[in-house]
Amino acid sequence: MSFLTEDQRSIQQLAHDFAQSAVKNKARAAEADPAEMMQLWRQLADMGLAGLAFPETYGGAGADYLSYCCLIEELARVSASLAVMLSVHTTVGILPIFDFGNDAQKNRFLPDLLSGKHIAAFGLTEPDAGSDAGSGDTRAVPNEKGDAYRLSGSKIFITNALTAQIFVVTARSENTPGNKGLSAFIVPRDTTGFSVEKGDAKLGIVGSDWGTLVFDQAEVPAENRLGGGGDGFKIFMNSLNSGRVSIGAMAVGIAQGALDEATKYAKQRQQFGQPIANFQAIQFKLADMATEIAAARHLVYHAARLKDAGQPFLSEGSMAKLYASQAAWRATNEAMQIHGGYGYTTDFAIERYWRDARCLEIVEGTSEIQRLVIARQLLS
Ligand SMILES: Cc1cc2nc3c(=O)[nH]c(=O)nc-3n(C[C@H](O)[C@H](O)[C@H](O)COP(=O)(O)OP(=O)(O)OC[C@H]3O[C@@H](n4cnc5c(N)ncnc54)[C@H](O)[C@@H]3O)c2cc1C
Repeated sequence: MSFLTEDQRSIQQLAHDFAQSAVKNKARAAEADPAEMMQLWRQLADMGLAGLAFPETYGGAGADYLSYCCLIEELARVSASLAVMLSVHTTVGILPIFDFGNDAQKNRFLPDLLSGKHIAAFGLTEPDAGSDAGSGDTRAVPNEKGDAYRLSGSKIFITNALTAQIFVVTARSENTPGNKGLSAFIVPRDTTGFSVEKGDAKLGIVGSDWGTLVFDQAEVPAENRLGGGGDGFKIFMNSLNSGRVSIGAMAVGIAQGALDEATKYAKQRQQFGQPIANFQAIQFKLADMATEIAAARHLVYHAARLKDAGQPFLSEGSMAKLYASQAAWRATNEAMQIHGGYGYTTDFAIERYWRDARCLEIVEGTSEIQRLVIARQLLS
């Protein structure tokens, strides 16, 4: 039990009911069938959940960030793929526009994104620029008239690449080396010279699509630049701070889902003439999982509350992501152990939780990068 307000509790309950009744039994099918996943997305959007934590002025639901984290947690408890789709859309997709866009950009792009009619993606990672994202080499060169930029280069591992209509990307527009040379651009899908290629098959969150963004002299209007020239890295790091809290919420959800499955299985599975839940070795695993999940949830809620209060949460966001993603990995691993051989088959959900949890220590900054962020704050 956590100290949530009445509004937060009712959103959590709404998300729980939706996840358990509409998503849970479709999660496996949605892994294999993009149409099923889009159907879930549309249901979610129809409930006003695609723009939950944004003001009503732009078509959002006006809830706070903690409520949004509760939503992500409940979705990830049954489908990490749907949760990551919404997480990327909301945090690193929409937040750069919401936090740094001018009025014209907000009025043009936010309503369709917040209603869920459009899906957002973000493009930072390049073949030679992953953790060192500030070294990206996608170029943005102003055209002769100065009213547009021509983007050339590519972005890899981009979540929502196949389904998004709006892409927020970084490109090097300034003659300054390193991250200060990057600007952020809003790139609509139908931009001339811009195309998307399907990504390689992946281990987990396979219901969440990803791909490569290819810019071949893609003509992006100058009015689509977010903030000033050279502001791109700052804009993306700001959004990633929020994104990490959201990935932490996702980790808590996956871990809780794995605990739900393991507890149910331990009570049903009989060995040596009794349920395996009677064995202390199994009980200790369940107890450790529950304790780590509770600790991770507190870190995530704390970081979300700081954000809602307008307080800095750089370290707290990284701590939440670091701890929760590692807790999710341990929890799904133990849950698989409790399932024994059956857990290793696709007849049981636990192998999906185990595969899905693995990406959390990589996306939106690896665990090593989170430690660098935390240490930098300690030493500054
Ligand atoms: C499922 C998934 C979805 C993704 N979605 C998106 C997306 O939507 N948009 C996007 O832009 N990117 C996305 N990414 C990319 C992701 O952000 C990168 O994979 C991540 O930042 C790591 O970069 P890299 O893969 O190039 O690894 P590298 O940077 O090459 O790192 C390799 C290893 O070296 C370690 N390392 C690197 N530098 C240091 C250092 N200074 N100190 C200590 N260790 C270090 C890393 O921690 C890691 O263990 C996604 C990735 C995955 C797996």
